[in-house]
Amino acid sequence: MKAVRFFGHKDVRVVNDIERPVPKGDEVLLKIGGAGVCHSDLHIIDEGTVVGTVFTLGHENAGWIEEVGENVEGYKKGDAVLVYGPWGCGHCKPCQQSKENYCDHQSEQAYGGGLGLDGGMADYMLVPSSRLLVPIYDLDPVIAAPLTDAALTPYSAIKRSLPKLMADEYVVVIGVGGLGHVALQILREISGAEIIACDVTENKLAFAKELGAAYVINSKDADAAEQIQKITGIKKAKVVLDFVGATSTIDLGTKVVSLDGDLTIVGLGGGHYQYSMNGLPFGVSMTNPYWGSRTELMEVVGLARQKKIHIEIEKHRLDDANEVYDRMRQGKIKGRAVLVP
Ligand code: NAD
Ligand code: ZN
Ligand code: ZN
Repeated sequence: MKAVRFFGHKDVRVVNDIERPVPKGDEVLLKIGGAGVCHSDLHIIDEGTVVGTVFTLGHENAGWIEEVGENVEGYKKGDAVLVYGPWGCGHCKPCQQSKENYCDHQSEQAYGGGLGLDGGMADYMLVPSSRLLVPIYDLDPVIAAPLTDAALTPYSAIKRSLPKLMADEYVVVIGVGGLGHVALQILREISGAEIIACDVTENKLAFAKELGAAYVINSKDADAAEQIQKITGIKKAKVVLDFVGATSTIDLGTKVVSLDGDLTIVGLGGGHYQYSMNGLPFGVSMTNPYWGSRTELMEVVGLARQKKIHIEIEKHRLDDANEVYDRMRQGKIKGRAVLVP
């Protein structure tokens, strides 16, 4: 079968000679409908966040059950499912609570398809257990694939700050890409706060307005923080969601977050933050959440089935993976690119 393989630093190749896996025991074989292209792939490809193994990329996956191992019950061929991405041990307390994104054993094992183990940018994908599948019923797997990360990750980040996102407060979203464009819609649907969106290109800012941002600011502007403070007034923004995570965006976040606010850094842009007593308003919680839980993914499917969130999608062939990654490097993708076998 065909697969998009990561061979090491900046070396991604589409190959045709991968053997189709056969599921055994608890395993499930999926026929892939779509595999989303996440910016985290670029951190793997360009910066080496996963090293030492050759594997198939793609950690945002959806498809149809093709074949199940002898222990699997409750699924039949053709059922449409999402693949929950962070694969934990399945036994520790966080895993038992469905929070496999915070599995106790994350530091000692490869923990996901497309993240060291074979992922979904291929004709078929092996999932280690049906525990990691979430049914999507009538949703199309091509369109639904990014729900597993581009929607789940901002959903989980927003949910933890929900008590602070009341109608008299402001929330700042930095980066209106794959994750950010879904974050805006989730905020619009489940929170009351007024949304201020930041990006570095005018078309992304226009897109943010369509998705519910009341205000948009170009964060390239040297006075971006002052522009935001002009909107919020002295109270500043109760929650800042940074989907870039560069030093410049973290710095912007610290300048606009309010007393007792949340500064949530989702982006893995390699930024630095130096704590100092006067550098942050009192009471701020700074967090670096990772993905979301399995049951939160079920809630995200609910939002999509009720048409409360819509993922803007570009469809591409597996053969075009390298071109798509290049366009992502240049910030040219609107919403999410999905590779369709
Ligand atoms: P993307 O490439 O689709 O979008 C990034 C957006 O940020 C683009 O619109 C770009 O124009 C904008 N941007 C770049 N620099 C900016 C700046 N200085 N100010 C404002 N906007 C800026 O990326 P994505 O797939 O949405 O991922 C975003 C980040 O989140 C990546 O670093 C990715 O690795 C990370 N991520 C983290 C998790 C997690 O669980 N923590 C999960 C998925 C992705
Ligand atoms: Zn991702
Ligand atoms: Zn675990």
